[in-house]
Amino acid sequence: METAHPILAALGIDLTLWQGDALTARSPCDGAVLARLAAATPEEARHRIDLAHAAFLGWRTIPAPRRGELVRLFGNVLREHKAALGALVTLEAGKIHSEGLGEVQEMIDICDFAVGLSRQLYGLTIASERPGHRMMETWHPLGVCGVISAFNFPVAVWAWNAALALVCGDTVVWKPSEKTPLTAIACHVLFRKACAAFDATQPDPLPPGLHQLLLGGRDVGVVLSESPRVPVLSATGSVSMGVDVAARLARRLGRGILELGGNNGMVVAPSADLDLVVRAVTFAAVGTAGQRCTTLRRLIIHRSIAESLMPRLERAFDSVRVGNPFAPDTLVGPLIDEAAFVAMQGALAQARAEGGVVSGGERVAIGAAGYYVRPALVRMPAQSAVVAKETFAPILYVMTYDDFDAAVALHNAVPQGLSSAIFTNDLREAEYFMSAAGSDCGIVNVNIGTSGAEIGGAFGGEKETGGGRESGSDAWRAYMRRATNTINFGRDLPLAQGVRFDI
Ligand code: NAD
Repeated sequence: METAHPILAALGIDLTLWQGDALTARSPCDGAVLARLAAATPEEARHRIDLAHAAFLGWRTIPAPRRGELVRLFGNVLREHKAALGALVTLEAGKIHSEGLGEVQEMIDICDFAVGLSRQLYGLTIASERPGHRMMETWHPLGVCGVISAFNFPVAVWAWNAALALVCGDTVVWKPSEKTPLTAIACHVLFRKACAAFDATQPDPLPPGLHQLLLGGRDVGVVLSESPRVPVLSATGSVSMGVDVAARLARRLGRGILELGGNNGMVVAPSADLDLVVRAVTFAAVGTAGQRCTTLRRLIIHRSIAESLMPRLERAFDSVRVGNPFAPDTLVGPLIDEAAFVAMQGALAQARAEGGVVSGGERVAIGAAGYYVRPALVRMPAQSAVVAKETFAPILYVMTYDDFDAAVALHNAVPQGLSSAIFTNDLREAEYFMSAAGSDCGIVNVNIGTSGAEIGGAFGGEKETGGGRESGSDAWRAYMRRATNTINFGRDLPLAQGVRFDI
C-alpha cells in the first residue's frame, strides 16, 4: 500500500475510506501511482442518489440566503487550502502550477458569485389580462443535481455546478473523471469541512448527505443518466459521452446541461495588433498542453500578414518551456496519458497526409513515464477532415484567407461551437463577428484569445458542444424549476381569452 502523498497529507486527507483496487490514480508528471481506490458499484451509486434525494427534501426549504452561507463558508475553506489543492491539481492533472492555483481561484470566484446569487433568485411579476388577478413566477429547487466531469478541469467545473446547485436548493451527486479521483476526494472532504463549520454556528444542523461523491468510470455515469431521481445532470466531456448521456436523459425526459468538445478558431485580420496576437495565440493554443475545451485549435490568418506572423508564432512555440509542471518557468506540462499522446501523433500523421506542413509535435524526453510534447504548429492548405475534429493536445492548424466573409464561413464550418475570437482593429469586422451572421459559438471574443473565460459570464457552446450553459449570468435557472402563479384577489372567476363557461 502506498503512503499518502505529502500534498494529500497537507489537505488532511485520509485515503483509508476510499482505498480499493478498481481505480489507479496516477500522476501524468511521471506516471507514479498515487493511490489505488475503490469505485462505486451501480447499487451503491443508486443508494447515494437516494441519500442525496433525502437530503434535498430538507435542504429545499432552507432559505436561499442561508444556503448561500454554506457556500460562503466553503469559499473560505478553499481560500485556506488554495495552495495545497492547486498543487494537487498539478500533481494529478499535470497543469502548470499557476493554472492549478487558477483553477482553485475559479472555485473561490464561483462561490462568491453564488453567495450573491442566493439573494437574487428572482422571478417576474406579469400583467394579467383578467381583472382582479396577478401573475408571477417563482423559482424552486429542482432536486438532485448530477455532475459528471472531465479530467482537464478536475475541480473548477464541479464547483461551477455545485456552488450554483446548492444555493438553488439542489443537492449534488458528483462523478469525477476516473483520471482525477484524488482532487475529487479533496473537494468532497473540504466541502464537509464547510458543512461542519456551518453546523457549528447555526441553530439547526444541515441535512446529512448534501454532497455525494461517486468514484468510478462510465458505468457510474450511466446510473446518473438513467436515474429518475436526478432531474438535472450536468455532463462535461467528449461529444461521444454527451451523445450517450443525452439519449439516456431523453428516454426519461431528464434535463441535461451538456458541456462537450470544442474546436475553437481565431480570425486574424490585417489590422490586428500582432504583438497581442502572438501572446494570445500562444497561451490559447499551448496553455494546459492544449487540453482545454477552449484551446485554440484553428487559426485563420489574412494572407497579407501570414508571412510576418508565422515566424513569430514559430519562435514562440519553440521557446515555451515544456517540462515539470511544478517548476516555476514551465509553461507546458505533460499530456494526461499515453492515449492522449497516441491520439496526437495520429492527428499529426493525418494532417501530413492531408497536405499539412508540421513543425513541432515530437515527444520531449523528461523522465521515462510522462508524455511531454512540443506544441505543434501545422500549416494546412484547407480545413480538411483532421482540422474539423477535436484532438485534445497542443496542435494549432493554420489556414489563410483573402475575403472576410469566407473567413467567417470557414470559421463556422466545423461541427463544434464552443469558443471563438477575432483579432482586428476594424470596428465593422469586430461587430460583424459578434453579430447573428458572425461566429456561431457560445463564446465570441474580440482581441482576446479563446480560452480563459471568467465566471461572471454564462459558459458553454452550440452544435456538438451541447448547448449547455454554466457558471455566471442566468445559468442558475437550469438548476431550478419555474412555477407560474396566477392569483385571483377579486370576487369573480373570469376565464382567460374571454372564454364563457357558465354553470
Ligand atoms: P470523457 O468524455 O472521456 O470523460 C468525461 C467524463 O464522462 C468522465 O467522468 C467519464 O467517466 C464520463 N463518461 C464517459 N462516458 C460516459 C457515458 N457514456 N455516460 C456517462 N458518463 C460517461 O472526456 P475527457 O477525456 O475526460 O475530457 C476531455 C473532453 O472534455 C474534451 O472533449 C473536452 O473538450 C471536453 N470538455 C468540455 C468542456 C466544456 O465545458 N465544454 C470542459 C472540459 C472538457
